[in-house]
Amino acid sequence: MRADGGVFKNDGAATNAPACEAAENGYNVNVDVWRAVAKRLELDLRSEIGKTMKKRLLTGLQPSGVLTIGNYCGGIKQVVNYQNDYETFLFVPDMHAITVPQDPELLHRRIREVVGMYLACGVSPDENHIYIQSEVPQHANLSWILECTAYMGEMSRMTQFKAKSEEQEKKKKEIGCGLFTYPILMAADILLYNAHVVPTGADQKQHVELARNLAQRFNAKYGETFVVPEPLIPTVGAKIRDLQAPEKKMSKSCENPKASIFLTDTEKEARKKIMSAVTDSGEGVYFDEANKPGVSNLLTIYSVFKGITIPDAEKHFENARYGDLKKEVAEVVCSFLAELQDKFAETMKSGIVDETLDRGRDYARQIAEETYDKARRLVGFGRV
Ligand code: ATP
Ligand code: MG
Repeated sequence: MRADGGVFKNDGAATNAPACEAAENGYNVNVDVWRAVAKRLELDLRSEIGKTMKKRLLTGLQPSGVLTIGNYCGGIKQVVNYQNDYETFLFVPDMHAITVPQDPELLHRRIREVVGMYLACGVSPDENHIYIQSEVPQHANLSWILECTAYMGEMSRMTQFKAKSEEQEKKKKEIGCGLFTYPILMAADILLYNAHVVPTGADQKQHVELARNLAQRFNAKYGETFVVPEPLIPTVGAKIRDLQAPEKKMSKSCENPKASIFLTDTEKEARKKIMSAVTDSGEGVYFDEANKPGVSNLLTIYSVFKGITIPDAEKHFENARYGDLKKEVAEVVCSFLAELQDKFAETMKSGIVDETLDRGRDYARQIAEETYDKARRLVGFGRV
């Protein structure tokens, strides 16, 4: 560090530091070199702590629209609950977002907003690794290896591809190949970090299953390389339903704005959408997803935001009418949104989003490179 790094001056050794600053103790310290060393040590230390102490958790939220309460229930809330139990990787899958058309300016903005929402919801920027998928090039590199590991047959069974390609067809738009192959990129997202658990809503279970199959197939062919991940699906709130079509899940990219409660909705907007949510024929407020999907959805939302079980929510609404249920759901959701939006506004002003993303990118690249390098050698890429 002394001579070759040019860290110390005035001691007869290295003097090659144009950016030297005079320190009070008589040394001239090259601050840039010190910073680089400290950063490297911090990354190594975090990596070692992660390896020895905790299992890894990984999840992501596409910046494909404004986040909904569905994304909160299936994704963010689980991260908030589990962040102390796992070494946590949260990434913003901007590469997934372009599987359907996106406005580039809006995409840039939404990437930062997703991170702002994570932080505003209570995800710790210091304890977790938060980064943007496209800033870690190993995702695309490993995805290619896995693409050559996956089979057409299993890919054709992906229900999200069927649903999303039908939507594109309805709009008379071409269907991009990325929409077909993106579950493989998602497998790469997970396997690169050797994640043990992947919190998700019910809609992503099939994709985590694919990641498991690809990991097992690769390991069987080339030797133990990837951890085989497990999905972590919440018992309540795994599938928040579309308020206007409760047979479907709520989605941030759904074009009917009345169908979803966005995390940025004003109190008035959210209340109006909940009050006009489609309910079911008959009466009686109880949980029965098959026959009462609309009412069951509202009960689910109530129990998640109130922090109580579904049976307790049913008891609370024992003699209530649909209108009473809606009013109370609106109350609990609106008070959650008001508090969240204050924190979100503060977070977005503070500069913490970029600091967090820079740190997360550096750490993620280091872990991803270790895994990718191993995989590429095993398949025979490049020189030994
Ligand atoms: P898009 O319509 O662009 O696919 P999305 O709302 O489905 O958006 P994703 O970014 O695909 O959101 O998913 C982010 C996370 O949110 C995933 O863990 C997913 O399982 C979860 N999630 C999405 N929708 C719901 C929902 N309605 N209920 C519970 N969890 C959900
Ligand atoms: Mg989705």
